[in-house]
Amino acid sequence: MQTKLAPSDPNWAWPTSRSAYVHVPFCRHRCGYCNFSVIANRDELMKPFLSAIDQELASLDRPEIDTLFLGGGTPTHLPVAELDWLLKQLAVRFDLSEHSERSVEANPEDIDEEKLRVLADNGINRISLGVQSFTPEKLKLLQRSHSAAQAAAAIELAAKWIGNVSVDLIFAAPGESVSDWQADLQTALDLPINHLSTYALTFEKGTSFWNAKRLGRLEGVDEDVEVAMYTLTRQVTAQRGIHHYEISNFAKDGFRCRHNLAYWEGRGWYAAGPGAARFVEGRREVNHRSTTTYLKRIESNQSPIAESEPITQEQYARERAAFGVRMIDGIDFAKLSRETGVDLFTLCAEAIETSTRDGFIQRRGDHISLTPRGILFADSVASELLG
Ligand code: SF4
Repeated sequence: MQTKLAPSDPNWAWPTSRSAYVHVPFCRHRCGYCNFSVIANRDELMKPFLSAIDQELASLDRPEIDTLFLGGGTPTHLPVAELDWLLKQLAVRFDLSEHSERSVEANPEDIDEEKLRVLADNGINRISLGVQSFTPEKLKLLQRSHSAAQAAAAIELAAKWIGNVSVDLIFAAPGESVSDWQADLQTALDLPINHLSTYALTFEKGTSFWNAKRLGRLEGVDEDVEVAMYTLTRQVTAQRGIHHYEISNFAKDGFRCRHNLAYWEGRGWYAAGPGAARFVEGRREVNHRSTTTYLKRIESNQSPIAESEPITQEQYARERAAFGVRMIDGIDFAKLSRETGVDLFTLCAEAIETSTRDGFIQRRGDHISLTPRGILFADSVASELLG
């Protein structure tokens, strides 16, 4: 039996969106493990894409935002002039608050002084580099088009120009040992980074890696090796003052990714571009994933939206709990109940009981957090909370 507070609470409202995501789908080539909305070897579509993004965003009433995130794809695959145009146009379409976080995803092979200057001149103050590894064999296996030396040089240069650098690394690649992973991790932590995201390699349906695994040509590492790598990551980062704050994310004090926090805290965000997903005023929408379909629809003045659904307050509350519990500090269920207008203790009573019994979560008053063992089973806890 659940208690909904909202219908009788005239003060409850959906959160005002103060974040924006822009998806730039272009890449040099498609890496074998990637299932993002990406288009490779179609750089002739860059100019139409820029017009389409601008047209999509023109319907907004220049909302004020605190975080802007250009992801992809590879935003820095855009040539300097196009990147400059896009960043300037985003400043026209959004009112970027004075202390806003402005992030761009980048690949090491695109990084040079000229591109970094354009980013810095346009107020970009955070760069997230898709490094994935510093080991030549692993980079080759992952089909990355940069070398280890290029990655290290890009981090140094980005730190000089942008200041705030985050790095993405992949672990549990086929054939990788715990000591191989430790070497990658140490190399990253010896470089001037403030934030680290680490992801175990997954074999997603539709990727060439998935196919290769199915045919027995690629094999993931054993689960106990993957757990050992993850545990090692937590230990090594803690020793180096990069704190674990979300299942896959680690940051120095003051350098948590504010844009991702807006997602995890369900604060609402605008989004534009192929496959981009937004959450505004209680409605979740996803654009067409294919860049060519996206372009055709915008060019013919049709909506780029492929899916649109209002979410109920109950769904919203459950999602806030499921994403929130992935934060290592845990979540305050009483605060979440107030913010969602739904009594989460009642709604999620069974989920809380199951995950507590399994030893995955601990409760102190209104506060719920993952146990050290639960950190390894965060997906199970989240799925219980989603109901
Ligand atoms: S560079 Fe990144 S976005 Fe592009 S294909 Fe590779 S993993 Fe996917």
